[in-house]
Amino acid sequence: MGTTRKIGIFGGTFDPIHVGHLVTAEAVRIEYDLEKVLFIPAANPPHKQGQLVTPATHRYIMTVMATYSNPHFYVSAMEMERPGPSYTIDTVRELVGEHGASADFYFITGADAVADLPNWNDVDDLLDLCHFVATTRPGCVSAIDDVIRQLGPKSAARIHRIDTPELEISSTDIRERVKQGRSIKYIVPESVESYIAKEGLYRN
Ligand code: ATP
Ligand code: MG
Repeated sequence: MGTTRKIGIFGGTFDPIHVGHLVTAEAVRIEYDLEKVLFIPAANPPHKQGQLVTPATHRYIMTVMATYSNPHFYVSAMEMERPGPSYTIDTVRELVGEHGASADFYFITGADAVADLPNWNDVDDLLDLCHFVATTRPGCVSAIDDVIRQLGPKSAARIHRIDTPELEISSTDIRERVKQGRSIKYIVPESVESYIAKEGLYRN
């Protein structure tokens, strides 16, 4: 019997990527013994239609810089290369197609994202194709139980939770800080901080 590879997928807008994302991805990688985590910036997030999102190239470059020093972290441009909205089901189907049965996929989400899971496209197929790992604050009664109740018994075996002290950091707050000229030091990696300043992102 060959060994199955375990690969993490971390989808997000990453506008910009921050320390909360990185700490979470590393915690899940270690807990689930993942050989790598693939960060996938969304080109066109379906739930952010009508919102102004920074051009994908900037978000991609920042994600590469932020993850570069971790030998287990990789970035994929696959959603940026696909036209139309970025649906996770299309991404996971593509990855499963590439790896066949040789890999198990673990999709990493924050607590807010997993609460929304019942609204995702083809969620039933998605649960057949990959595991979900949702971060919850330690001791917190989470929305995950509600989601599992809504999605049925099959989902209980596919949706996992990991206790992490979720950092009170969001990209929304970072964008707001930059706009107001406040510091984002230590909330994003230094390279991302420099890139935001150099490119003049989030100033208006
Ligand atoms: P925004 O404020 O623009 O929505 P965000 O900080 O939520 O940005 P996203 O790119 O939307 O970042 O999130 C990608 C994934 O990372 C989602 O699954 C989200 O739940 C998760 N996430 C976001 N912030 C954190 C955090 N501080 N700790 C753990 N997970 C997080
Ligand atoms: Mg978000």
